[in-house]
Amino acid sequence: MAYKISDECIGCGACAAQCPNNAISEGDTQYKIDPNKCTECVGFYDSPQCAGICPVEAPGSDPDKKESKDQLLAKFKKLNPDKTPK
Ligand code: SF4
Repeated sequence: MAYKISDECIGCGACAAQCPNNAISEGDTQYKIDPNKCTECVGFYDSPQCAGICPVEAPGSDPDKKESKDQLLAKFKKLNPDKTPK
């Protein structure tokens, strides 16, 4: 499932630079994740990079955006046709 950023976000922006899919952008009051671009880092890394760097643990999986690993991998391939998944 795609990740989303909770209201705990303090707006530091540390996560945005870490996202390999450029799925994170600055919103009006906090950073936000485009679920159409988030692969939970599948294809790039073993774990979600935004969650790993956030100082307040704001990014977490979105229960409303459930996706299997195969679906996330398919999204990776669609977003990154020139890259080989790791
Ligand atoms: Fe980007 Fe990975 Fe966070 Fe999804 S889980 S928003 S792909 S850094």
